[in-house]
Amino acid sequence: MIRLDIQGAHTQLCSTLCAKCPQGPAGCCKAPPHMDWSDVGRVVAHDGRDFLLTRIAKKDLLPREGGLELRRVKRREAPTEPMERKCVFHGAGGCTIAPTMRPATCNYFLCEDTFIEGGERKGERSAVLARQAHGALRAVYERWDAALSARIAETFPEGPAWDAAFLDWLGEAFVRLEAASGTELSALPVSDENRQAVEER
Ligand code: SF4
Ligand code: SF4
Repeated sequence: MIRLDIQGAHTQLCSTLCAKCPQGPAGCCKAPPHMDWSDVGRVVAHDGRDFLLTRIAKKDLLPREGGLELRRVKRREAPTEPMERKCVFHGAGGCTIAPTMRPATCNYFLCEDTFIEGGERKGERSAVLARQAHGALRAVYERWDAALSARIAETFPEGPAWDAAFLDWLGEAFVRLEAASGTELSALPVSDENRQAVEER
């Protein structure tokens, strides 16, 4: 079953299949996504600047072209579990960091198996809406990344310093992009469950 928690750029799509992932205990966290410019800006906008600076210093987050790479580590969480190479932030109970500190892909990505299990082919509404939300979010984030890449190249021709001043600048640039995309984000499909929750707020 798929559950949608539509919150614009911070949307989370969840599947019950992830708890018994066919890929093993770490699921798709074996291949963490990159933290692209838009992700870094989004984390800063959620008061995550110091989190990023600390994790960059610890080399858990590695500067790369286009943002940061999440370090992979080899470990097992229990003697009965297989040794896996996986995201440094993955622990025994799943992801150990808040959704606001993760790449957006971690929050809205679902693999094909989850859509099958969620009944997309039978027209199950939550699965159909999740597919739409997934596509819309990917398009928005790709556009934001292209816009931020261009602005970074223009403003920091020598490359970013990965210091507090750069991260603050990126956080503000993200907030402006998000505000300018209001209509696009508010057009994300909303499940009945989600709509009811919003109406009750
Ligand atoms: S999205 Fe798919 S691959 Fe990733 S944890 Fe869930 S079931 Fe596993
Ligand atoms: S940040 Fe969390 S959700 Fe994303 S890959 Fe790492 S452990 Fe998985």
